[in-house]
Amino acid sequence: MILSWFRNRRRRRILAEHFPADWQRLLERRLRHYRHLPLEQQRRLHQIVQVMVVEKEWAAASGLEITVEMKVTIAGEAAVMVSGHEPPYFFDRLHTLVIHPGTVRFSPHQAARNQNLPAGDFDGIAWHRGPVVLSWTRLRRELMGQSPGHNVVLHEFAHHLDGLCGEMDGAPPLGDVKREQQWYAVTESEFFRLVGNARRDEATLLDHYGASNRAEFFAVATECFFELPHELRERHRELYDTLADFYHQSPAEWLPRHETTANLQTDADGNYVHIDLRRRRRSDHAR
Ligand SMILES: [Zn+2]
Repeated sequence: MILSWFRNRRRRRILAEHFPADWQRLLERRLRHYRHLPLEQQRRLHQIVQVMVVEKEWAAASGLEITVEMKVTIAGEAAVMVSGHEPPYFFDRLHTLVIHPGTVRFSPHQAARNQNLPAGDFDGIAWHRGPVVLSWTRLRRELMGQSPGHNVVLHEFAHHLDGLCGEMDGAPPLGDVKREQQWYAVTESEFFRLVGNARRDEATLLDHYGASNRAEFFAVATECFFELPHELRERHRELYDTLADFYHQSPAEWLPRHETTANLQTDADGNYVHIDLRRRRRSDHAR
């Protein structure tokens, strides 16, 4: 009670400040979504960024120096996801973000001390009820459009949202039974369709990584929803509508078709023949 009183008072102070002009220029330069967002969503994004930059603990790994630029970029990308919600949502259950300069990898020493650390190389990790861990190099590459359809911030923050109501199981908090039933009906059939595609090694719009389990399906579908909304709406209409209902927004209405759609080559029948599949990540959500 007292804590939330202090927090709310501090937030009012943060939000009374003007959004810095250099942050705005940075977002315009960095985030493909930002300048296309409807004004109301852009206003909420500013508030979310202001709060996240100040309130979250930003921890560096491997000697990285965390800059305001990194904080604004990451908070801005995460804010796009929830900018459809009124009142603004500040990821209140997330306290810490850990930024790695390159690939996220734990040393043998760290692994020996903590048996729960996943082994391997990761672009990011979302700990259940814990920090979100991100590779800055990976994020920069994606922001430069080198990996269409992929966005590690959207991916890991989707896991975070998924874990808000119990396990990370691909079912984020939906509010009521009717929406849960609709969610289940649509995502189950889409998940099994992707599992089949992946087994037959057929190229698909949704990354095969989403066939790993339902949690990954939700995270991969979220990336596609924001990064390639037109393609998702054309090919997976029900999934698109279900995600639009959850995120309270429809990116296909405001985001121009992806400049790098050319990378999603299709044959004469409209089947994908090449997609930059993410093969490296294994289970990047952890307990
Ligand atoms: Zn994942």
